[in-house]
Amino acid sequence: MRNFDRSIDAYKEAVHLMPGGVNSPVRAFNSVDMDPIFMEKGKGSKITDIDGNEYIDYVLSWGPLILGHADDRVVESLKKTAELGTSFGAPTTLENDLANLVIDRVPSIEMLRMVNSGTEATMSALRVARGYTGRNKILKFEGNYHGHGDSLLIKAGSGVATLGLPDSPGVPESIAKNTITVPYNDLESVNYVFEEYGDDLAAVIIEPVSGNMGVVPPKQEFLTELRQLTKDNGTVLIFDEVMTGFRVGYHCAQGHFEVTPDMTCLGKVIGGGLPVGAYGGKREIMERVAPVGDIYQAGTLSGNPLAMTAGYETLKAMDETAYNEINKNVDRLVEGFKVAAEKYDIPLTINRAGSMVGVFFTDGPVENFESANQSDLKRFAKYYRGMIEQGIFLPPSQFEGLFLSVAHTKEDIEQTIDAVEAVFKTL
Ligand code: PMP
Repeated sequence: MRNFDRSIDAYKEAVHLMPGGVNSPVRAFNSVDMDPIFMEKGKGSKITDIDGNEYIDYVLSWGPLILGHADDRVVESLKKTAELGTSFGAPTTLENDLANLVIDRVPSIEMLRMVNSGTEATMSALRVARGYTGRNKILKFEGNYHGHGDSLLIKAGSGVATLGLPDSPGVPESIAKNTITVPYNDLESVNYVFEEYGDDLAAVIIEPVSGNMGVVPPKQEFLTELRQLTKDNGTVLIFDEVMTGFRVGYHCAQGHFEVTPDMTCLGKVIGGGLPVGAYGGKREIMERVAPVGDIYQAGTLSGNPLAMTAGYETLKAMDETAYNEINKNVDRLVEGFKVAAEKYDIPLTINRAGSMVGVFFTDGPVENFESANQSDLKRFAKYYRGMIEQGIFLPPSQFEGLFLSVAHTKEDIEQTIDAVEAVFKTL
C-alpha cells in the first residue's frame, strides 16, 4: 500500500485555509472517497507526490500539458523571459507571436484577445455576442462546462456535475432566465428552441467535443445543423474549445469536424501550463471590442509574458507529426481498456477524440449527460483507488476525461494497460 502521510498532514492544514483544502473543487477527491494528494514535481509523463509516490499522469493539469511536465523547451524559454521581467502592462511582441500561431491554425479566428482563464474567455465571448447582436438569451447544452461565469453555471458539467450542484446558489434569477439548456446531440430540442426564441438568441455556446461529462463527441450532423440554424437566425455560434483547442488536433475540433463557428474560446494548451485564455473570431465581431469598439473587456495580466512564452513554445512543438504520435498511443490505450473489460466482463464505454479519452462504466452508448449519468459511480470510485495504488493518476471523477501528452511513452501505455488489467480483475 502507498503511504500518504505527508499529503494527509498537508490536507489537515489546508482545510482550514481554503474551502475543502483546495483552490478548485475538481482537485478534491470527494467522489472517489479519498483526500487530495499533494504534488511536489513532474517531469514528462510522470508526477511525484509529497510522500515520494510516483505516478504516470493522465490529468496533465486538466489538459494544458500536451508536452508533458516541465518540458525543457518551455522551461528554458520561461527562464529567459522571467529574467527580462514578468509583466509590463504594455504590449510585448510575445503576444503577437502567440496570436499569429493561433490565427494561423484556428479556422474561425481572424482576430483574438488574450485573457487569463477559460472562464474569462467564455464570459467575455458571451458579452461580445450579446453586444454584437443586441440580444440577451443564450443556448447551452446540459453537461457542458464553460467555466463559472453566472450565465454559464446552469446545468453545467465538470466539478458541478461531480458534486451534484448543477445550478449554483448566487446566480441571480434575472441572469439564469436568459440561459436556455437542452441535451447535447439533441437536434429536435435545438430546433424547438430556435422556433420559440430564434429572434432573441444572442449565442449558442457548445463544447464541440464535450469533455466535462466525461468525453462525449458530437454527431457530425448535430454540429453541421447548429451552424446552419445559427446562421439563419443571426445568432453567434461560439465553440468553447478551452479543452479541445490544440488537443483534438492541429486545427482544433472545428478543423476536425470542418464546422467553422463565428467565435472560439481557448485556454489550457495555449498557455502550456500557465494561466491563459483567449477568445476570438470574425474580424467584424472582434472589432466591436474596446478600444476599437464599444464592448468593454480588459485585464491587468492579460497577455502576460510568461504565459505567452509557455503557450508559444507548446504550440510550436505541436506539429502534425506530434499529434500523430500521441494518437498512436491513444489507440493502444483504448484497445487495452477494451480487452480488459471484455476479459473481466465489465460494462464499459470508451469515447475518444484526439488525445481526450472518456472511460464510462456503462454499456452505453454515451451521447449526452443523461447517458453519462448511467455510469456505475461506485465501480468508478473503486477503479480509481485501485489505479492510484498502481501508480496511475487519473481525473478523480467519472465526469472528466483523461489526457495524453507527447511525453507518454509506449512503456507508459503498456504499464497503464497492465494496471487496468490488475484493477479490473478486482472490480
Ligand atoms: N470551458 C471548458 C470547455 C473547460 O473545460 C473549462 C475548464 N475545465 C473552462 C471553460 C474554464 O476554464 P478555466 O478553468 O481556465 O476557467
